[in-house]
Amino acid sequence: MPVTSASAEGLCTFVDASPSPFHVCATVSAELEAHGFVRLAETQAWPAAAGRYYVVRGGSLVAWAAAAAPTGDRPPPFRVLGGHTDSPNLRVKQHPELSVAGWRALALEPYGGVLLNSWLDRDLGISGRLAVRDGAGVREHLVRIDEPVLRVPQLAIHLAEDRKTVALNPQLHVNAVYGLGETRDGGFLGHVAAAAGAEADAVLGFDLMTHDLAPSALVGVDRELVAAPRLDNQGTCYAGLAAFVAAVAEPTTATPVLALFDHEEVGSQSERGAQSDLLPAVLERIVLARGGDRAEFLATLAGSICVSGDMAHATHPNYADRHEPAHRIVAGGGPVLKVNQNLRYATDAAGAAAFALACAQADVPMQRYVHRADLPCGSTVGPMTAARTGMTTVDVGAPQLAMHSARELMAAADVPAYAEALAAFLAPA
Ligand code: ZN
Repeated sequence: MPVTSASAEGLCTFVDASPSPFHVCATVSAELEAHGFVRLAETQAWPAAAGRYYVVRGGSLVAWAAAAAPTGDRPPPFRVLGGHTDSPNLRVKQHPELSVAGWRALALEPYGGVLLNSWLDRDLGISGRLAVRDGAGVREHLVRIDEPVLRVPQLAIHLAEDRKTVALNPQLHVNAVYGLGETRDGGFLGHVAAAAGAEADAVLGFDLMTHDLAPSALVGVDRELVAAPRLDNQGTCYAGLAAFVAAVAEPTTATPVLALFDHEEVGSQSERGAQSDLLPAVLERIVLARGGDRAEFLATLAGSICVSGDMAHATHPNYADRHEPAHRIVAGGGPVLKVNQNLRYATDAAGAAAFALACAQADVPMQRYVHRADLPCGSTVGPMTAARTGMTTVDVGAPQLAMHSARELMAAADVPAYAEALAAFLAPA
């Protein structure tokens, strides 16, 4: 049985190191390199030799352990573990400087399905990447400021129309204050450029987003719970990375692949999202690099399988009626198989069986989730990966509450259980 080192404390460290999708890729890359993986460029020819490799495309990453060229007539199938690196948050507009009523403020815009109220009255830092002029070219800077530079203040209850509720307009009510007086020193972007060691007027483009600075923590009287930002879906990135590293150390007849995509929260339709050519292109190049042809690639795909990991909804104690009554999901009750008849999840009988076997092999319980039929169900990268590759795909996750809040909640015990199940899926006995 694969043994992983995944823990709730490790998840907290991972999340706190990874405020943006670009930082998720940097965190995962560092761990992969520590395990002997070599980064390849998509613009170069790839080595024919067996080995451990990965590529990064913006905020997306694909890693694999390539076996030697097959000797028989049956190429080794892929076992793909998919997930997403992005999380809903507040991002910086292109002309962000605001000066209102004596405040220096920054214009922000929601990314994905943000629970806007959860971002109010928090100490926020900023992270992302800058594209900076460098001679005749452009170079990229990762940037992060882990200081409380931004804050989105609530409206006082006394100023609410009915003294009870404050409806939040995403255009009007999520801008952040960052100081007093008039804009100076190049404004907020000047501050970010300086933090990256760049001249403000050399910044030609940016992808900047806010993050809550409160460290991830184990909470509850027995510290059984993890309170952290971005559990959706860094919970899967972390558990998936631990599972992948454990799986590549096992002898296996398959090629384990870790595929982490950006842009899931906004539909995945980009050059690096799950609807892009990233995964099929990498899988085909793995086959071609070791001397296979397109026919061998298609034969390999036909025997391959994908587990798509994304977080799942635990049954909420205050809103138990929002959940399908025969499919209660217990926090701490183990990984979740997600099924939807209208294909918001890709799971079918074959995929369900593969994940059930993985959970049995890992000796962890498996829970089965079905969304209420009278509520719209969310989706994830599973159906897109299935459609792009033709691989049998199964959607799974770990249970959590407060999905898309700035601060989410899950059971500490589900972290290692989820990683063990994913590892067993990647390296079946
Ligand atoms: Zn998600």
